[in-house]
Amino acid sequence: MERRKLIIIGSGPAAHTAAIYAARANLNPLLFEGFYSGTAGGQLMTTTEVENYPGFPEGITGPDLMEKFRKQSERFGTTILTEDVVSVDLSARPFKVCGKPTCFEADTLIIATGATAKRLTVPGTGDNEFWQKGVTACAVCDGAAPIFRNQPLFVFGGGDTAVEEAIFLTKYGSKVFLVHRRDALRASKIMAERAMHHPKIEIIWNNALIKVEGDKVVRSVTLQDVNTKKETTHPAGGVFFAIGHVPNTSFLGGQIETHPNGYIKVVPGTTLTNVEGVFAAGDVQDHVYRQAVTAAGSGCMAALEAERWLSAQGHHAG
Ligand SMILES: Cc1cc2nc3c(=O)[nH]c(=O)nc-3n(C[C@H](O)[C@H](O)[C@H](O)COP(=O)(O)OP(=O)(O)OC[C@H]3O[C@@H](n4cnc5c(N)ncnc54)[C@H](O)[C@@H]3O)c2cc1C
Repeated sequence: MERRKLIIIGSGPAAHTAAIYAARANLNPLLFEGFYSGTAGGQLMTTTEVENYPGFPEGITGPDLMEKFRKQSERFGTTILTEDVVSVDLSARPFKVCGKPTCFEADTLIIATGATAKRLTVPGTGDNEFWQKGVTACAVCDGAAPIFRNQPLFVFGGGDTAVEEAIFLTKYGSKVFLVHRRDALRASKIMAERAMHHPKIEIIWNNALIKVEGDKVVRSVTLQDVNTKKETTHPAGGVFFAIGHVPNTSFLGGQIETHPNGYIKVVPGTTLTNVEGVFAAGDVQDHVYRQAVTAAGSGCMAALEAERWLSAQGHHAG
């Protein structure tokens, strides 16, 4: 079985930034970019304009940005495999990393498999319908886009994130409707009160989204009262899912310690996991910021920490 100094799992900003740093440090990284596990290139492949990634004053599309990340990792000699990692054995070093079909040994490992934003699957929200044409899963990323300005905006969810996103969107929308399936928010009391007292937010209780319609962009949403089953259609310029994310960790088989919400636990301020020699970067360990630039930053940290760890173990680059 081929042995590598460093294997990186993932293909978003965290994985490629780690690869760029590791390749430049002559660690000859091998990167599994995934195949069925999610779009290679990560979450930004599902979005259009990215306007908050520094260095691109005119904005750049998510796929174009990720193509640049990938090219930069290849330029410095990263080996990229278009395979999913299906299992790892972290019980002894070197670690064993199995893709489909190839297995490798690794002295150190960076996990940067990201998270998947949950979406409601109702008519009108699909990839070939209004997804990214008014329907999105990231208010902070997309809320400032011109199509949402002065429009009625609908946020779906009932937790802190949903409330935060609704408040954030009040800067742009004419009014923000926070739609929740139940008759009370799951959000913390202080956040719930903020939403309830906000002059631009109206909470629609006991309702679920059943349809999104429009022309080139979203124009209306149809809701259904979960108790009476009565349907109502409302003019809408934007639909924002705030129903949570799932970190992509199933291939780890529980060998890495996680928080109760499934995100990988790292020593605060570092990318160190509970297994020595295994580092985690990007959204898979970050349920707070979840942005491309923070993912990239932690990818850099992981590569530097892996490099230092390898040299402390007596492994030398080259
Ligand atoms: C619709 C949308 C719009 C967004 N817009 C912005 C924006 O404008 N600005 C911004 O800063 N952020 C934005 N974000 C957030 C941003 O995309 C994420 O914070 C960032 O992509 C996280 O990067 P990451 O490197 O942690 O991993 P991800 O981007 O989540 O990528 C991880 C990738 O790893 C691969 N992978 C997963 N499991 C495996 C496995 N077992 N084996 C091999 N590979 C695997 C998959 O291909 C997966 O896609 C947006 C998110 C969404 C959903």
